Amino acid sequence: MDTLHRLEVTVSAAGWLFECRDGCSRRLTVDRDGTLAVIDRGDPWALHQGGTPDIELAAPTVAPG
Ligand SMILES: [Zn+2]
Repeated sequence: MDTLHRLEVTVSAAGWLFECRDGCSRRLTVDRDGTLAVIDRGDPWALHQGGTPDIELAAPTVAPG
């Protein structure tokens, strides 16, 4: 059973910040080179979706640990 969470996108000079707005604390960034960095995993079982006209994310892969 997948739970769908939506990511809220904030654009900054360094790139994009994605924050979950559905209760878990997942946060990740994508810099201008397209490098994705997970700051806080939040709920690892939820499917996180969100995007901008430039970037769309769906369930980005997170390495265990
Ligand atoms: Zn979430």
